[in-house]
Amino acid sequence: MSSEKRVYAFGRGVNGVNRTEGNRGMKMILGGKGANLAEMANMGLPVPPGFTISCQACMEYYNSTPPALPAGLPEDIAEYVTELETKMGKRLGDSSDPLLVSVRSGSPFSMPGMMDTVLNLGLNDVSIQGLIAQTGNVRFAWDSYRRFIQMFSKVVLDVEGLEFENAITSMKNARGAQSDTDLSADDLEQLVATFKDIVAEHVEADAFPELVGADGRVAFPQDSSTQLRLAIEAVFRSWMNDRAVVYRKMEKIPDDLGTAVNVQSMVFGNKGETSATGVAFTRNPADGTKEYYGDFLTNAQGEDVVAGIRNTSPLHDLPAVFPEAGAELWQIFETLEQHYRDMCDIEFTIEQGKLWMLQTRVGKRTARAALRVAIDMVGEGLITKEEAVLRIDPAQLDQLLHPQFDPTADYDVIAKGLNASPGAAVGEVVFSSADAVDAKAAGRKVILVRWETTPDDLRGMVAAQGILTSHGGKTSHAAVVARGMGKPCVCGAEKLKIDAASKVARVAGSGVELHEGDMISIDGTTGIVVLGAVQLVEPKVTGDFDTVLGWADEYRRLGVRANADTPDDAELGRKFGAEGIGLARTEHMFLGDRKQIVQDMIIAEDEAGRLAPLAQLLKVQTEDFLGILAAMDGLPVTVRLLDPPLHEFLDSPRDLAVEVAKLECTGADPALLASKKKLLALVDSMHEQNPMLGLRGCRLGIMFPEIYGMQVRAITLAACQLKKAGRDPRAEIMIPLVSVVAELETLRAESEKIVAEVQSEQGCVFDIPIGTMIELPRAALTADEIAKVADFFSFGTNDLTQTTFGFSRDDIEAMFLPRYLERKILPRNPFETIDSGVAKLVKMACELGRETNPKIHLGVCGEHGGDPDSVKIFHAIGLSYVSCSPYRVPLARLAAAQAALAEKIAGSDNR
Ligand code: PEP
Ligand code: MG
Repeated sequence: MSSEKRVYAFGRGVNGVNRTEGNRGMKMILGGKGANLAEMANMGLPVPPGFTISCQACMEYYNSTPPALPAGLPEDIAEYVTELETKMGKRLGDSSDPLLVSVRSGSPFSMPGMMDTVLNLGLNDVSIQGLIAQTGNVRFAWDSYRRFIQMFSKVVLDVEGLEFENAITSMKNARGAQSDTDLSADDLEQLVATFKDIVAEHVEADAFPELVGADGRVAFPQDSSTQLRLAIEAVFRSWMNDRAVVYRKMEKIPDDLGTAVNVQSMVFGNKGETSATGVAFTRNPADGTKEYYGDFLTNAQGEDVVAGIRNTSPLHDLPAVFPEAGAELWQIFETLEQHYRDMCDIEFTIEQGKLWMLQTRVGKRTARAALRVAIDMVGEGLITKEEAVLRIDPAQLDQLLHPQFDPTADYDVIAKGLNASPGAAVGEVVFSSADAVDAKAAGRKVILVRWETTPDDLRGMVAAQGILTSHGGKTSHAAVVARGMGKPCVCGAEKLKIDAASKVARVAGSGVELHEGDMISIDGTTGIVVLGAVQLVEPKVTGDFDTVLGWADEYRRLGVRANADTPDDAELGRKFGAEGIGLARTEHMFLGDRKQIVQDMIIAEDEAGRLAPLAQLLKVQTEDFLGILAAMDGLPVTVRLLDPPLHEFLDSPRDLAVEVAKLECTGADPALLASKKKLLALVDSMHEQNPMLGLRGCRLGIMFPEIYGMQVRAITLAACQLKKAGRDPRAEIMIPLVSVVAELETLRAESEKIVAEVQSEQGCVFDIPIGTMIELPRAALTADEIAKVADFFSFGTNDLTQTTFGFSRDDIEAMFLPRYLERKILPRNPFETIDSGVAKLVKMACELGRETNPKIHLGVCGEHGGDPDSVKIFHAIGLSYVSCSPYRVPLARLAAAQAALAEKIAGSDNR
């Protein structure tokens, strides 16, 4: 046995002795499945015994070139096989009473259906006789053997699954059989022979030299230890298959964790009418209702339920069919919930009336269910409020903010299915994942319509707005994966008769046909399918959402504000719990019908020429600020003075050149031609090689003091008017893109002068704080100097990331960032989650700022303010608030509470 511990036993032998080496705390070693199997075995639950090979062994496998099992592991496996054989009183490959095992993947984080499994391992030409002798069921035995060859060949030997499907279809045709179950034992025995021929024909001798017989032909392996070793290696390999890699990327699961392999003695749900298999949740994972939930299939193997191949029965019918096993399962649900103190998800098998637990884990659920379950469990005294807050995934809350069908819209429902994943979606019909991906790339929105999805459909599911299937239950692949993604999904819409090859779906009994490109709408909350595009409405947030966020507010230290530039957005932010506006970008107020005024101002030749357009702008800007300040009455509103390069408000030089050329050709309007030419010359003269590093931000304020002057006047005027009306406006003026303190000193002095002037004209005096954005490295490095003249800093982490890295924020996500992420040169997109280097600058600037101005208020208003992982970092740095788009305010509130609670827990752990 090697000194490295790589294999862990679990389960009770036939003598009743439990030898289990793991527990649920060992997920990183045993993977989720292995750790929980060990836990259940220790709890005394009926778990078929087996052993788990560690995730670290998987990474060792990959770390050798070519990939190979680490030295010593084959011997360890042999030893644990012997122990398992002793526990079971049976031997692998035995001719009289063979042990059969399943070989399953199980990584530290759940990756449903992404990796591979082999069932019935241990069957061969000899042990099949033992299985027949033991079960007395010849048909079952041959069916198990043909399933084993089929699965093993597909997963381990890489033979196309279709080869076997075709052989089964030919056999059914030859026998006039409707379904697989109509095939006799003899038919299945014959299929086994055919399957072996398929293996001989399709498996490359070079790839599997150990399978080459004396006749030079590849033969299906008969030796159980060869079968087992090859199956274990195949499961390790499946860690790196395409769909697993895509899934990890989407779920942000690191690639270097590896998967464990669970080798477990088989139990059979397909041994006739006294056997069954099922998938269950201890509560409803869609809405959180306290009820047992799931599906089962009589006389079937586990994979059949998840694959949605046959229609299942609802779990609540189980006790009627299997009274004893049903009662035991109900009892186990209670035990598991009390033990895990959470909703669990379970796979079980009933073998000739005896219940076996094949898996449990904390169950995935929709955001709606997560809130309901957490609140109920607090009520039941199972968890504390703090735990409830810690359990909700902030990113998942997004689901609750998904659009729904407009309740006033008229529409005809063409089909109904199961409400598998909430939210509504509208898009064109596509029938394959490849088409969904192509359509997305072409900028089209699609609904992926499938008979049922498989893990191979993952890319298509990611690309689609929503998923519609005609088959499968709420625990089918489509349902489980869509819920995890927060994508609307309707599944099991049985009236849809899909012909994916011809790209058409017929709605039975209605004459309606759906063709590729037809617009449909689906509602995953109610399960309906509609022809045409239904108007969607934004959801209202109430009830459970407010309860949990209310609890979160009790724990968080970070304030949360919204980035909003219109009264509507301000109101929305406030409704979601924003405690002010952290960033009102004024440039958006310069677009639309105001663009012409702005252009007039820019093209004016001197200050005098700018006066008229500025007066017009002052009027409209005052109205803007009145609206926003009124919507946020009593709460701070940080208004940023104009930031982008001015040429962004001018026409494109290319378009102008075309216009000039046309006017020159026709000679139609000489006056217009002259003005266009002048404008073109001006636009050309304002051209900059690097506009984001050019005349923008506070540099505009220095070059065109009257623009900033107008904005400061408008802010002060609006605030004075509201004050006089008895309201409580709390305007703050923010100066962007400062790099040297003198910029802020100059602009602050000019602003203060205007504030004082307006306040004296209006006869009301109150404080308007003036601060700056920190979005350039030099500003961060000299924050101690800048803080002396700033009432607040707001970190513009978008620009700070851009300028710290020297990455163009507008280009890199489409250019080289994907490659950087793929090659792990960067761990995350730094424009999404704050980079550690940029965070260091933020921290340093906070410390420097506080040194010279202990009262300085510190916030973040870049996109990172709404990213849960970044929020945790900002909490640790000790900022006062984060500011983000209104829809992300709830996420930020929750993430901020979780950061505070995590800190509290770490503090009490250290004591
Ligand atoms: C920033 O740079 O982070 C910021 C908030 O400003 P903007 O995105 O408008 O440049
Ligand atoms: Mg910026």
